[in-house]
Amino acid sequence: MTECRCMTPPFDFRDYDIESLGIDATNGRFGNVTVETCKRCGAQWLRYFVEYEGMPSSGRWYRGLMSPEMLLGLTPDQVPAVLAGLPWYFYGGSYFQTSGQKGCGPLFVDLAAHRAKPDRAAETSQRRDAVGAVWPQRVDLVGEVALDELTLSYILPNGGSRCLAWSDLRAVEIVTTDAGPFGEDVFWVLFGAEPPLIIPQSAHNSDALLARLQELPGFNSNAIIAAMSSTAPGRFPCWSRA
Ligand SMILES: [Zn+2]
Repeated sequence: MTECRCMTPPFDFRDYDIESLGIDATNGRFGNVTVETCKRCGAQWLRYFVEYEGMPSSGRWYRGLMSPEMLLGLTPDQVPAVLAGLPWYFYGGSYFQTSGQKGCGPLFVDLAAHRAKPDRAAETSQRRDAVGAVWPQRVDLVGEVALDELTLSYILPNGGSRCLAWSDLRAVEIVTTDAGPFGEDVFWVLFGAEPPLIIPQSAHNSDALLARLQELPGFNSNAIIAAMSSTAPGRFPCWSRA
């Protein structure tokens, strides 16, 4: 069975009847919300688009599959949370440098998130800086890892969660900091989500994560040994998609 065009990026606006739901002005952003009904299969997609004037490559959109009940009474400011609560959505735009990928979890729609976002076109070291700016705030977090066939999830102690489809995983690194022995000092950094998924080694079920990662073709287990014996801050690339 072939899937409808509305399930396979890139998307073409001509395939939809488009209805505007309005503008989300939260935090000074101007998120443009539309409901797009597929002319072929009738599926209803809730689309959120935002970009920042004067910021090149800031355009980003998310689109998630809705039931008519979910759309009932929906206001534009609720849409980022509604999309974030879906099992998955498509996202894309110049900010993500993709014409459409599956993702899930929180939406990055604010300018602050734009500034924190690693610039893919820039040096790898900049990406590393961007990651480094994220993890020190998480030293008190432990959380739990959950794995299934398709997805890796990291559930935070506050109940929030982030997830990453195995098919989107691009690279794996271990980051060590000098916070030990009293702080968390070893982190998994999983590239493929925006921002990268950062999981402390002390997270519950991280042994299962390690076992699963070691099944990746070409995974460098020596990097783990090097990371574990390191007492200084460092980065240990373990795997990247060929
Ligand atoms: Zn369709």
